[in-house]
Amino acid sequence: MLDAEFAIDKRECDDLKEHVSSMSTLENYHHIKCWEIISKERAYAKTHIGRQAPRFLEPYLVEWPNDKRGTRLKILARSGQLLLNGMQAQRSRAMGALSMCLCCNSDSEETFHHFLMECPAYHHLRNRRDQRVHRALSAAQRGVEPGSVMNSGEFDSLSSYDRMLRILGKRMDFVKTEEAIDRACRKYLVRAWEERKVIHEQWANSEWN
Ligand SMILES: [Zn+2]
Repeated sequence: MLDAEFAIDKRECDDLKEHVSSMSTLENYHHIKCWEIISKERAYAKTHIGRQAPRFLEPYLVEWPNDKRGTRLKILARSGQLLLNGMQAQRSRAMGALSMCLCCNSDSEETFHHFLMECPAYHHLRNRRDQRVHRALSAAQRGVEPGSVMNSGEFDSLSSYDRMLRILGKRMDFVKTEEAIDRACRKYLVRAWEERKVIHEQWANSEWN
């Protein structure tokens, strides 16, 4: 019975994975999401061990009652639905000036990668976030064979896109590292989103005056 249940699980998860991989808006999500089976260290309950991870809630969602804003922004960010100018312009099929970032002078389209990894307007927030990530990676080195888990230098040498995926929850070596990165990510999203709102309000006011 259990074998049959596991087989259905697997078939459904394979279908879901294929569906997600065919949607361009979910490209990041496809790379972030864990499609594997749940190991003992990652299981909330014994009955989850060996089941397909997509059958269960993502661990960061348990933070919903404590941090609704951060969790909501992270959900939107992971699924490519955060309403940045690039996304808004795409939706309304009006590219060009409307898709540009209003928060900096870098003449860049406001894509999610720009917002999370590049925009100079959030440089200070990004520094703080990355310090937290580095601290988590240093803590993960304690008590393990040197070179067996990712360190800060290795993290920094990943491509910017790959670092973005890790910041949005792609699996790391340890659950504790993922939890620390999750906290750093939610803090960044909440503060950067607030600062963006202020800048956009200033723009809107200046348009009227
Ligand atoms: Zn910018």
